[in-house]
Amino acid sequence: MLDPMFERLEELYPDLVEFRRDLHMYPELSHKEEKTPGKIANFLSDLGLDVRTGVGGKGVVGILRGDKPGKTVALRADFDALPIQDEKDVEYKSRIPGIMHACGHDIHTASLLGTAKVLSEHRDKLEGTVVFLHQFAEEVIPGGAKFMIEDGCLDGVDVVYGAHVSSKHPLGKIGLKEGLAMANGDTFEIEIAGKGGHAATPHFTVDPLVTGSQVLLNLQQIVSRQIDPVKPAVVTIASFKGGEGYNVIPDSAKITGTVRTFDKDIQDWIEKSIESIASSTCHGLGAEAEYTYTRGYPAVCNHPGETRRIENVATALYGKDMIEHIDAQMGMEDFAYYLKEVPGCFFWVGGALEEKDVYPHHHPKFNVDEKAMLYIGRLFIASVFNYLSGVEESFAATQEKV
Ligand code: MN
Repeated sequence: MLDPMFERLEELYPDLVEFRRDLHMYPELSHKEEKTPGKIANFLSDLGLDVRTGVGGKGVVGILRGDKPGKTVALRADFDALPIQDEKDVEYKSRIPGIMHACGHDIHTASLLGTAKVLSEHRDKLEGTVVFLHQFAEEVIPGGAKFMIEDGCLDGVDVVYGAHVSSKHPLGKIGLKEGLAMANGDTFEIEIAGKGGHAATPHFTVDPLVTGSQVLLNLQQIVSRQIDPVKPAVVTIASFKGGEGYNVIPDSAKITGTVRTFDKDIQDWIEKSIESIASSTCHGLGAEAEYTYTRGYPAVCNHPGETRRIENVATALYGKDMIEHIDAQMGMEDFAYYLKEVPGCFFWVGGALEEKDVYPHHHPKFNVDEKAMLYIGRLFIASVFNYLSGVEESFAATQEKV
């Protein structure tokens, strides 16, 4: 039954490439997506879907009702770009200075639109409903997912799937991780208030740079000396700024960084420990610390039953060798919010180019093999039918919601 749909997807491939390249040439930053949502909404409307725009801000949701009643599957693709200057040498490189699709969200969007088009042409075979979640602002905390959920994008949804292309995995390789897959991602800021003055008379000042250096080094002891070594945690200082010139001790300095964890208790511990280390270090040296800790995305936790469903479907499509059981990563993704509401799975799909063209995500030369769109599309289509036809339903349903 699926073969004609896969053939149709291949037929649509040039259109998907065109759509993707248009997004690629005109990328838009998180929360500032102006034209992209309209392009997506037009495409979905032309398919005869019920389309809602402005969902939670800039989100677009398309609803496809099959001819027969049944459950509801949501599929998600994000569509925001990054503040990076495109340095690729391709004719479809970004036309917008300083902004580029350097994480493949353009690929996700075009893959989901292709999926929507194929499924919309086969409503007669659909026993249930498919909800297409086109999400804005994945790259910037607090992210679009939370707002789209608050605006009802998951109402009536039974299960949710999301794919992320990977520039380092071979084309079509499916990366899966059951349970905790990506980390809680938080940010913090420490403003160090000292007392500025002449660089030649340090004894009349409280030097925020020397104090800040102590804070920075002391913070390294949280993970190395306070956290159980078998539990993952990261405390990274990403910036330390203060002062300029050669002969002035500044009044203040600022440290910013990120914390990645999986365990809630460890997350709580680190939040308190940074404050205690910063304030006591500063206090001992006569400075003051002002501390702000902001919780970002929660951890991505893939539902065991649904992860196995994706594995089974992908194995049937691409063969066992194309499945890779990957380790949890300290990166973060706001797909986590959907998984807190309904069961589901977030998986990786390889799209590596030739070795000389492989660059990491968020790199100015990042790019992927556009054929990854076919692998994502086929897997989405097959997973929708697998779920709606009730395969393994009892198995998945008995899994505890995580
Ligand atoms: Mn991404």
